[in-house]
Amino acid sequence: MQKPLLNWVDNTYVATTEWDLKLVSDTTKFIPVTSPATGEIVSYAPLSKREDVDLAVASCKKAFEAWRSRTVKDRIQIMIRLHQLIVKNADHIADLIVLEHGKNRTEALAEIAKGNETLEFALSLPQLMQGHILDVSRGVACRDSLNPLGIVCSIVPFNFPFMVPFWTLPIAITTGNCLVLKPSEKVPMTMTYVMTLMKEAGLPDGVVNLVHGGPETARMLCEHADVNAVTFVGTSAVAELLMKQCRGLNKRVLALGGAKNHLVAYPDCNIDMTAQDVVSSFTGCSGQRCMAASVLLCIGEQPTLIESIVAKATSLTAGQSTGQVGPVIDEASLKRISSYISQAEENGEKILLDGRKWMNKGGSGFWIGPTIILHNNRSDPALHDEIFGPVLSILACDSKEQAIEIENANPYGNAACIYTRDGGVAEWFTKRFGAGMIGVNIGVPVPREPFSFGGINKSSFADSDITGVDALNFFTYKKKVTTKWAPPEEISWLT
Ligand code: NAD
Repeated sequence: MQKPLLNWVDNTYVATTEWDLKLVSDTTKFIPVTSPATGEIVSYAPLSKREDVDLAVASCKKAFEAWRSRTVKDRIQIMIRLHQLIVKNADHIADLIVLEHGKNRTEALAEIAKGNETLEFALSLPQLMQGHILDVSRGVACRDSLNPLGIVCSIVPFNFPFMVPFWTLPIAITTGNCLVLKPSEKVPMTMTYVMTLMKEAGLPDGVVNLVHGGPETARMLCEHADVNAVTFVGTSAVAELLMKQCRGLNKRVLALGGAKNHLVAYPDCNIDMTAQDVVSSFTGCSGQRCMAASVLLCIGEQPTLIESIVAKATSLTAGQSTGQVGPVIDEASLKRISSYISQAEENGEKILLDGRKWMNKGGSGFWIGPTIILHNNRSDPALHDEIFGPVLSILACDSKEQAIEIENANPYGNAACIYTRDGGVAEWFTKRFGAGMIGVNIGVPVPREPFSFGGINKSSFADSDITGVDALNFFTYKKKVTTKWAPPEEISWLT
């Protein structure tokens, strides 16, 4: 029997609740972690109780004063070592991601590199964290400085076991905060291992603690009186819920939600490049990306483009090597994805490529192949709901105005993309898309550091984006100091 994972507090593994191997079948205490490729149980994630959360928060509280008192230049020395340890151990981190998430190895290594890029941004904070100073009157000066909030927590989703925790962790702690991380109970192994690298890098006890658990543990963290700010990434319903809960408690909150990303193919687009890009976007990480393509709006009939997309997607194979499409996260996800395809079929939509063929192929694991639906019926649920699997809906539009009307009507607003060779057309769409991250001939338009990441509407219940300079502002408050040292005759409040 697999051992359950343990929480990480004060730079060591701990179990406070009675975590006995005999109890792993008790679903009130543990959740099995399954390998999506085989369906086998590979570990157990404990469902932390209040005393576990209290212990982690208390550890942060104990560490905070000494950590914030260090200079930022001092803090980044540890972050430099952490960056190097992540590079050195990338293969092992990727093994864990492939095992518990299911994505292919190249995708796993790419998410590690992207997570480490946020850490690289954090290394530049000594240059960015400087305050301002100005003589505001004769003899009177004002200065401001950026200060850590205290204890912050990050609640993260399953789809990027390493990258999403690293969207917040490096910037949160380099600015002087202490952080409690709650990984997704579906992929808890990756970050549990990364904690050991933080210790090896020299991070003092209590600066980062990790508690395992599900929704209940997440809510306990958000409610905890000593937690000053919360970041959340996950589904829109939970993002909205936690945002309201945290605002009601007067905590800073940054909550990112789901997505339904629309790509538009203008008649002049480069067929081969567009087809390749669209296929990579909707099949990459098996469609389990908040930046994945969901809907392709073709302006006019575009049979050659559609044929090329279907041909490229048909040639993909199931597996976890470079270029292959991995499984989806679990049984529930598999059922949800296939039910959207079945429903579309029942509604009379044309299934140009049917990924249900991959189901039960090897007899185990959660496999479903790339699926392409050509829609006639604009009300089909597959066109509107976030499916979070390798499914592309295609719809023909009469005009660019109609394409924009459809894109703007969707309640999400994470990403959108226009494929065209015409700069004027690209500008027209860029100005009108109702999304926070826009691509021109790029189907996964992730802004790279130092640009911040984030959507609008139901894709973000936050007042700022999550990485880059926005994260620096989120994790700090401004202290304004007004000073008067000059003798009275040199002072004037007016000049
Ligand atoms: P999820 O909402 O089910 O879970 C996310 C986290 O919240 C997990 O740690 C989970 O334990 C916790 N949680 C779940 N229900 C909760 C509740 N009722 N109260 C408190 N905490 C709760 O999301 P998921 O299935 O793990 O991730 C997929 C979703 O994340 C998709 O919708 C995807 O679009 C979204 N996502 C968005 C972004 C973005 O940047 N906007 C990035 C990655 C993923």
